[in-house]
Amino acid sequence: MNNIDFSGIYPVLISPKRILLTSHTNPDGDALGACLALYHFFKASGHEVIVIVPDHFPDFLTWMKGQDEILNYKTDKPKCDRLFKNAEILFSIDYNAPSRLGDAEQAFITSSGIKILIDHHAEPESRFYDHVFSTIKTSSTSELVYFFITGNGEGRITKTIAECLYTGIMTDTGSFSYACNSETTFRVVAELYKAGIDSVMINRLVYSTFSEQRLRLLGYALSEKLKVIYPFATAYISLSKEELTRFDFRVGDTEGLVNYALSIKGMKFAAIFVEKDDKVRVSFRSVGEFSVNDFARKHFEGGGHKNAAGGDSFISLSDTLEKFEYLLTEYKADLMNNA
Ligand code: MN
Repeated sequence: MNNIDFSGIYPVLISPKRILLTSHTNPDGDALGACLALYHFFKASGHEVIVIVPDHFPDFLTWMKGQDEILNYKTDKPKCDRLFKNAEILFSIDYNAPSRLGDAEQAFITSSGIKILIDHHAEPESRFYDHVFSTIKTSSTSELVYFFITGNGEGRITKTIAECLYTGIMTDTGSFSYACNSETTFRVVAELYKAGIDSVMINRLVYSTFSEQRLRLLGYALSEKLKVIYPFATAYISLSKEELTRFDFRVGDTEGLVNYALSIKGMKFAAIFVEKDDKVRVSFRSVGEFSVNDFARKHFEGGGHKNAAGGDSFISLSDTLEKFEYLLTEYKADLMNNA
């Protein structure tokens, strides 16, 4: 159970405000679910509210109610800059530092509005915020938002809000397989059911949306590009730009791939390296005590959670893989010793 107390913030929200909700780059189900839940909640409470994401979100989230109202900073910069300037309250949802806003970082920092963070990543950069609601002891930001909405006893979880929150919790826990080892998450989910969600339908809308090419990319990645290093209990996948083009890559197509690597018996550490135009995007997963958050922070300019993190590499793909394999030798003791 998280012990976040939101009561300090409710007085600020009594009168109608111009509210801006923001999420991190490459918005995922939790970022979007939490933002849209708050969007519907604030709108119903009489506020003027806008959601701005730094860049494109994946197609498997385009069924969510309110998504067509979301502004993309990349494609609508002048309008977004104006909204940042005019906002009275700005929320950072599902990320822990303005730098995770990508190109929108400066617009956020220079806005004079009240800044509020709601997030579950480690080590929030609190100095940028007037109010920080952060804990790693929760499944997702969406779970925290549930408590934010219901915390003063007045907020109503509508079916639409419940669908958004369920999407966030489901995707951030890999359909309830990690980061949800407590009764709190399931109690919250039970409340979402009471609000009328159809979890079977949401599961299909989010997960059964593969294009044929995405499924073939998955097959190729697993049969041709998976490297298993048993002495280090590590498995990883790498994909070059050329390979992605060959499979008609769309944003989100490599989502979840890394988890397959971790599903091999005995693996403790998994990674995927995806070559982009200007960098190599890396995702890490682990089981047990090996902290991929520390690993990503230290070596790949990233971070996240203990068992799920990401980062970037600004050297070539092959150099990145070489660096990664070298680092494994340094972490051998950690990888072999923890349960
Ligand atoms: Mn999250």
